Amino acid sequence: MRSKIPCSADKLSLLAPDMIQAVVGPPAFKMGSKYVTENRVRIVEADEVQISSSVIGNSGLHEQTIRLRDGNLMAKCSCPLEEQPLCRHCVAALLEYHRWVQPPPVRRTQEMPVSEPHPTEQKRTVSATDIKFNEIATFIEWLQPAARALERGQALPDAPKLGPGEVMGWIQAVQKLEERRRESEAAQAALGADITAREAQLNRLTQQLQASLQEAREGQSAYQQMQRELANYRDVLTRLSNIVKDLDRHDGQMRSVAGDLLRKGSQLETLAGSFHELSAALQALVKPPSP
Ligand SMILES: [Zn+2]
Repeated sequence: MRSKIPCSADKLSLLAPDMIQAVVGPPAFKMGSKYVTENRVRIVEADEVQISSSVIGNSGLHEQTIRLRDGNLMAKCSCPLEEQPLCRHCVAALLEYHRWVQPPPVRRTQEMPVSEPHPTEQKRTVSATDIKFNEIATFIEWLQPAARALERGQALPDAPKLGPGEVMGWIQAVQKLEERRRESEAAQAALGADITAREAQLNRLTQQLQASLQEAREGQSAYQQMQRELANYRDVLTRLSNIVKDLDRHDGQMRSVAGDLLRKGSQLETLAGSFHELSAALQALVKPPSP
């Protein structure tokens, strides 16, 4: 972003927040104020006619150069935003500069020990902000390769050497998230292996079941074959039993015939005896009497 705005002020410190708000777009002013509140602005170098600054924006670190010259405010920012007349980062830089040059609030001065000189307090505050800013910039530098590593499932790059504090806390939080991701990956792998083992077991059981079904089918077929054979045997038995009954009937008839024959034999014998007597009588008749 690059812009040139006519400006009647001859000192940058005269550009109060309400004046900036009146000139820039509401979104740019809102975001610029947010960056200041969140300590994301670093004044690298500044005087009443020029500011060099850096702002940690939502898409990375951007650098601004703002100049007051010949009744114009000339602003340049490394961001790609089209915001006019000033981008949110330049707004943030102007607001931060305004805050930076203001004397500390009265209440705050009263709380300070009387012996502590005022400029030292301002220096200390700026220095603390600088340290934090440096830490934040280091964190962002680390975060970019860290995010790529996370995307690719690789190990995080070594954490920058920072003292304990909020920024180190962020790094540790990211490291913990990565650790949990790895743990959950390991758990997933274990679960996957378990599922594979169970699938294999299920396959074996299915094969056994199919074999059992096949055996059952064969058994059923053998049973049906046996039933057919049994029906055949029953049929044969029935016929045999009929034959036996026929035989019994024939046996009775034969016995009756034999009885008849015996009776007729005895009649014949009687008849033969009668013939014999008759013959003897006849012989006696024809024989001459003995002398
Ligand atoms: Zn910008």
